[in-house]
Amino acid sequence: MLIDRHNREVNYLRLSVTDKCNLRCSYCMPENMKFVPRKELLTYEEMIRISRLLVNEGVTKIRITGGEPYIRKDFMSFLSALSELPKLEKIAITTNGVSTLPHLEETISLGVNSFNLSLDSLDRERFLQITRRDALDQVMACLHEMLRYNLDIRLNCVVMQDRNIDDIIPMVELAKDQNISVRFIEEMPFNGHGEYYPNLVWNHQKILDHITEKYPDIEKLNDPPYSTSKNYRINGFAGSFGIIAAYTRTFCGSCNRIRITPEGTFKTCLYDQGIFNLKTFMRQGATDEQIITAIKEALAHKAVNGKMAESNRSKNVFESMSTIGG
Ligand code: SAM
Ligand code: SF4
Repeated sequence: MLIDRHNREVNYLRLSVTDKCNLRCSYCMPENMKFVPRKELLTYEEMIRISRLLVNEGVTKIRITGGEPYIRKDFMSFLSALSELPKLEKIAITTNGVSTLPHLEETISLGVNSFNLSLDSLDRERFLQITRRDALDQVMACLHEMLRYNLDIRLNCVVMQDRNIDDIIPMVELAKDQNISVRFIEEMPFNGHGEYYPNLVWNHQKILDHITEKYPDIEKLNDPPYSTSKNYRINGFAGSFGIIAAYTRTFCGSCNRIRITPEGTFKTCLYDQGIFNLKTFMRQGATDEQIITAIKEALAHKAVNGKMAESNRSKNVFESMSTIGG
């Protein structure tokens, strides 16, 4: 079993399979984003090796993210290989839904039934302004298809002053008749050009107040263990909504995630600079035992929270979320 410095059981890996994307969400990356050269990416074989080692050490859930996972070549073959790992209980996928639909049925047939779908606006023009691509129709088609199956669906909506505030209530209302969770995320500074938001206006409390103003009859739900979202249900709604204080970081005490970036950097916190590079280590011939020892060592030094992880960095936060894996 993997245990971090704060005695939390580490059973959840977020694995980013590519930094490339078919959208250009302005909070995530610049239009002219420089992507990692192919040879610098972990190969699928390397990802499977690390996943197998971690699963043997007690990791039970792997979330595949990116960039956009479905645009990496041969992604479905990788997913199939991953799904065969014995003892891996759950694979979840975070996707923008633009090119997901043709692969949805096959993904589900591999046992994946948990999807985070990013959707920042229900308005075509606002969606275009935010993502810089006119792709709302594809995302909505993907959502409608997902709703036909019995899946665990969470919609991720980054809340941005002057960009999508008018979408908050319509987004919440998607959970009126559907058993989905609509999650509002505070905007973080991982936008690829180091634009910092020291005075985030739409923090978790303001988002909650905004929803409560329209729907005062809100019940606080019990949050699952290690959850980063605070979850609520509006009386009479089939689904729920959640708020993720990703910038103000009120959840750090219950976070047990580890992350591996497309280049193989091992991270114990979203806000750290990366602890060591697994790809380099593996390509130098590290044994399985040496890899696990290095991971345990990194966990033994995990920062107490995201503020501390950020203050330990030599450079300010500037990366794109796509190079980290959100
Ligand atoms: N491309 C996929 C997608 O968009 O769902 C997966 C990768 S994306 C980096 C994962 C999640 O990170 C998305 O839900 C996205 O909204 C969120 N994200 C990206 N940049 C962010 C930022 N600066 N602040 C908060 N959330 C962010
Ligand atoms: Fe692509 Fe996801 Fe980043 Fe948007 S948030 S640019 S969809 S990786």
